[in-house]
Amino acid sequence: MADKAYIRKAYHKLVRDNVPGIIRAKGEVAVCRALSEVEFRRELFKKVIEEVGELEAADPYTPGKVWDEFADVYETLEALRGLLGVSKRDIEERQRIKRQQRGGFAKRLLLEYTEGPEVLRRQ
Ligand SMILES: [Mg+2]
Repeated sequence: MADKAYIRKAYHKLVRDNVPGIIRAKGEVAVCRALSEVEFRRELFKKVIEEVGELEAADPYTPGKVWDEFADVYETLEALRGLLGVSKRDIEERQRIKRQQRGGFAKRLLLEYTEGPEVLRRQ
């Protein structure tokens, strides 16, 4: 019988609530601590960026992969929304107003440059 190596992998990252249990169910050790509100806020922003990166990299031809990554992005944004105390209704209202005033992204526009008079600054 081959010897098993015992390896410690450091993560130091925010994980979903059930992840430690899932790791332990595989017979591994998972050591966690609860974050303070300040730490949680910082880690959530990092997580949102991480999940958006995973969504961008998701293979659209792997069934369910894009959905999974969308779900991760939504979950992290939802946690952040709760932490910041912003209501869904307020966000949806702002989204509606901004879409009405500034439009959405249906036209796929990339602003190349602008030209016009510039107000000269006094030295
Ligand atoms: Mg993900």
